Amino acid sequence: MATVGVIGLGNMGRGMALSLTRGGHRVLGFDAVEATRAALAGEGIETFPDMAPLCREAEIIILSLPNAEIVEAVITGPGGLLAHPKPGLLIVDTSTSHPEVTRKLAARLEAAGMAMVDAPVSGGPKGAITGTMTMVIGGTEADVARAMPVLEAMSAKRVHIGPVGAGHVTKIVNNLLCAAHLLTGAEALRIAREAGVDAERLLEGLNAGSGRSGVTQVNFPTWVLNGAFDSGFTMKLMRKDVRLAAQFVGELGLDLPLAADTARLWATSEATIPDTEDFNRIVSLQLGPVATS
Ligand code: NAD
Repeated sequence: MATVGVIGLGNMGRGMALSLTRGGHRVLGFDAVEATRAALAGEGIETFPDMAPLCREAEIIILSLPNAEIVEAVITGPGGLLAHPKPGLLIVDTSTSHPEVTRKLAARLEAAGMAMVDAPVSGGPKGAITGTMTMVIGGTEADVARAMPVLEAMSAKRVHIGPVGAGHVTKIVNNLLCAAHLLTGAEALRIAREAGVDAERLLEGLNAGSGRSGVTQVNFPTWVLNGAFDSGFTMKLMRKDVRLAAQFVGELGLDLPLAADTARLWATSEATIPDTEDFNRIVSLQLGPVATS
């Protein structure tokens, strides 16, 4: 069993830390917020007010941080991982981050004798705490193999996509599709409403046909039609991911009209749907407040 550091103990990182402990690993945690560290210490995780003990003692450090800028600061900033270089240390970034930032950071870590794997996740806080997340992974065969016992304690499904950064490319594309499918799914339900067709029956028909998606199979029945809107993934995080996708598409020099429309609709939703709301609330753009009350 390994000694594993977890940096970022929020909705996802907390669950990952607890799943790792349950899997028999020793977990050392760090978060920038004192109250978050204290809450996890109360759940039996050793927590520290800085990253130095994690760098010293852990063989693998998991990152679960809000965005690419913060991942970069945690690795390259004062008191960060590069300030405590430890040859052989493997960093696994589970955050949804920018592939080019990941590649750049991996090169800097490699120059200091360390290595990086990107393993962004889906499955939400529930998947993190039950160890049933899905991971799309970027890294060398050897680094991914070394991380595998730790990844297995946190996830039910893992797909090794390619070299470092490939996991983050896949995650960005996945979330862009999810963001677009929520919009097209809401349009489908709007059509059904105007045409006098029951929403649940429509979904059952779609899910038996070729128009189905993860959103029609999971999001609408689990979080939308029942009014629950409690997936644990916020508008703020999904808006970040859609922005990241649009930025990445632009950096690749691509002109993709559906990606652009998706980005525009998610950006303008800021005016009507607060950051703290569940990301499935985006359906109110087409379905109005009735569906989200
Ligand atoms: P969160 O905001 O709940 O947690 C992030 C944690 O990082 C917070 O506790 C925060 O205090 C900590 N943090 C911020 N800056 C820090 C720093 N400099 N050093 C140490 N800790 C710092 O976010 P989350 O929902 O846990 O998401 C984490 C990542 O996982 C994001 O990249 C998100 O896009 C991705 N993700 C989230 C979900 C979900 O359903 N919540 C699903 C898949 C992927």
